[in-house]
Amino acid sequence: MNRNAEVLCVGTELLLGQILNTNAQYLANELARLGIPHYFQTVVGDNKTRLHQALRVAEDRAGVLVLTGGLGPTPDDLTHESLASYFGVPLVEPPGLWADLQAKFQSRGRVATVIQRKQCQLPRGARVLPNSWGTAVGVCWEAKPGLHILTFPGVPQEMTRMWQATAVPYLQNLGWGQQVITSRLLRFWGVGEATLAQRVQHLLGGENPTVAPYAQGGEVQLRVTACAANEAAAHVLMAPVISELKTLAGLDYFGMGEETLPGAVGALLTQHGQTVAVAESCTGGLVGQLLSGVVGSSHYFQGGVIAYADKVKTDLLGVDAQLITQVGAVSPGVAQQMALGVQQLLGSDWGLGLTGISGPGGGTASKPVGLVYLALVQGSSLSQREYRFGSNQSRDFIRRLSAYSALDVLRREIYAKFTSRDDP
Ligand code: ATP
Repeated sequence: MNRNAEVLCVGTELLLGQILNTNAQYLANELARLGIPHYFQTVVGDNKTRLHQALRVAEDRAGVLVLTGGLGPTPDDLTHESLASYFGVPLVEPPGLWADLQAKFQSRGRVATVIQRKQCQLPRGARVLPNSWGTAVGVCWEAKPGLHILTFPGVPQEMTRMWQATAVPYLQNLGWGQQVITSRLLRFWGVGEATLAQRVQHLLGGENPTVAPYAQGGEVQLRVTACAANEAAAHVLMAPVISELKTLAGLDYFGMGEETLPGAVGALLTQHGQTVAVAESCTGGLVGQLLSGVVGSSHYFQGGVIAYADKVKTDLLGVDAQLITQVGAVSPGVAQQMALGVQQLLGSDWGLGLTGISGPGGGTASKPVGLVYLALVQGSSLSQREYRFGSNQSRDFIRRLSAYSALDVLRREIYAKFTSRDDP
């Protein structure tokens, strides 16, 4: 028996990119939560021929087919009509449904028109999935032996509530949804996707749990997914793999799930009773924003200076004006003096200086767009980095990568400093 689910979302507006297919995302999550395998999603416009084509493909792959959209009263709402004609049954009106619909309208002080009655026409043999939140009902229907079809309105608030109230019990009654599929997301910074994948290669081929790498905007992620009888059993399967991944990744790993890089930095600063201040040029305050976005950051984030103009660098941070004239504001020496300046000005343990060219203009052959210098001081120790984020990258991307990279260096430096002292 086929125990796979498939999702088919109906709506031309989805194909035109006018709305985001949040129904598919919701259903994908729910199917995973219920442990129901789900390998295909399709989007099809409000067109009977193409709906038939989609059904032809899906009926051989799925044991349960979930459709959303196209249940309304207008001529382009074709889902039930297409299902009925595809499976060769007539549309019929279940007794009492029209009266129910009229009562719904009446309770809102409106009158149901004859056009609305179309919503009561369902494929013969299908059971009504009631909709207490809107007018269009769905169906649950064994359209042919072993193929269960569930339909829902497109409106997300109606679809999600009906799913919980009616579809989940229906599926569980059929013996589906007896397992859970659950995931954990491990997050990394300062390592490339390919490098990390290579390091954990032997864990990528596993079947339960599976481990899959992703990369987005400088961050690399590994998603660990397990299927088991319940959440606790899934965690037992995942725990040793997660622990091995963390060990292999070392300091490249910074957090799990909702844990963020600024949060990881904050946790370390708190743990070691340290404070930080930032002097930012090209990032215009982004590092400060990220640090202060963490709850409790007042304990360790002193503040910052947005030293965009040279005059601010010299007057507020004490950067040597001659140095700027000689080597330019985007230089390791200026980053260093910015870091020292803000550390002294605000009396913090750590001082962080960032200067660079975020573009799109202002780059030269020797100092291209994307060139960024970072300096980090603590006491009398100094660490510096030069980044080249790419002259064809957007301003936003360069600024974002600069800020996160700076936080990552801070995280590693705090860790290095205090681990070497704590460790025997
Ligand atoms: P109703 O009669 O209640 O409108 P319907 O089944 O006819 O239900 P549609 O007309 O297909 O629903 O869609 C109604 C609205 O629901 C759309 O305009 C859109 O805002 C939203 N919607 C439809 N499909 C999706 C989807 N897959 N993801 C997110 N939103 C959707």
